[in-house]
Amino acid sequence: MGVPTLITGGAGFLGSHLCDRLLDCGHEILCVDNYFTGRRRNIAHLVLNVSFETMRHDITLPLHVEVKQIYNLACPASPIHYQFDPVQTTKTCVVGSTNMLGLAKRLKVPILQASTSEIYGDPIVHPQSENYWGNVNPIGPRACYDEGKRCAETLFFDYRRQYGLDTKVVRIFNTYGPRMRPDDGRVVSNFILQALRGDPITIFGDGLQTRSFCYVDDLVDALILTMEQPPEFSGPINLGNPTEFTMLELAERIVQLTGSRSRIVHAPLPMDDPRQRRPDIALARERLGWEPKVCLDDGLRETIRYFKSMMT
Ligand code: NAD
Ligand code: UDP
Ligand code: UDP
Repeated sequence: MGVPTLITGGAGFLGSHLCDRLLDCGHEILCVDNYFTGRRRNIAHLVLNVSFETMRHDITLPLHVEVKQIYNLACPASPIHYQFDPVQTTKTCVVGSTNMLGLAKRLKVPILQASTSEIYGDPIVHPQSENYWGNVNPIGPRACYDEGKRCAETLFFDYRRQYGLDTKVVRIFNTYGPRMRPDDGRVVSNFILQALRGDPITIFGDGLQTRSFCYVDDLVDALILTMEQPPEFSGPINLGNPTEFTMLELAERIVQLTGSRSRIVHAPLPMDDPRQRRPDIALARERLGWEPKVCLDDGLRETIRYFKSMMT
């Protein structure tokens, strides 16, 4: 056995796709997860792979393993889940990241942090580039995630400055695809399930708020390209798809692609829901030579196929 790559949150949506891709590239993988939002089903196809190992562990506790690089993805990502136990969410971001940085420091290995577009809060600058500092409510219901992730970024940059660690911070924008949880309340999974079941499609607010949706395969490419950057490169770097849609447009696409007869209904907009969001990915284009390849319709088709297979 060689020295594995550690993926925290490896049984989650993004983490499990990253496990698949790195295994395909010949890496050995240690997947660490506490299964809060992750599922064994996401990695069930890997358990017989001799290059793949799992460990049930909560990263808010110290972790002593030998690995060659660390992707720190552990953290619930959907508002329903990260607000279920907000104190644990902040701890996962702050204490969990500190532990993973301590591990990286002891082993002198590169570590990548999955940060988020949510660190920009409800942005006043549009589109968001990496030098925008954001507009976050520090005491609202989303703060456990937004501020937790902001503090994690601070830790990553301080471990770099103070201890010379090779750290990378990626700011991931809304990503979707197979293995999203049907119950996680995010807009793509909600709309697809509602459309497939013939239930009304719930648009929060007027539906004119925007998001930019990146297909998971594109995102995983960018995570690996970022990890492969030389130690001088720290980010932060925006990763996402710059094509912006309103939630009304998204609902219409999904209704059309599923051939659903669902009608659209409006429900109240959640507190602190960002009005618009689109990444400026100039840095990713220049540094990584990367941009998303999968258009919304193609990505939605794959995701719809996955949810259909889950329903039968
Ligand atoms: P997910 O909820 O599917 O995956 C998170 C994984 O982390 C789960 O398997 C969960 O069980 C695990 N986990 C949570 N707390 C843990 C802890 N304390 N110890 C060990 N494991 C723990 O979410 P995802 O969409 O795959 O997101 C992965 C990462 O990417 C997260 O850090 C998230 O903040 C970030 N991100 C995701 C998106 C997106 O659109 N999916 C956008 C921005 C950032
Ligand atoms: N840590 C860990 N695994 C390791 C090394 C450190 O989980 O292999 C944890 C350690 O328990 C500490 C955190 O990482 O809580 C930060 O470590 P660091 O060395 O930066 O700080 P210190 O131990 O000096 O507080
Ligand atoms: N949304 C919606 N209907 C739903 C779920 C979400 O209209 O059933 C809206 C939500 O209010 C937000 C957008 O879709 O404006 C994206 O929500 P999501 O929770 O997927 O991601 P985030 O707000 O974290 O970007």
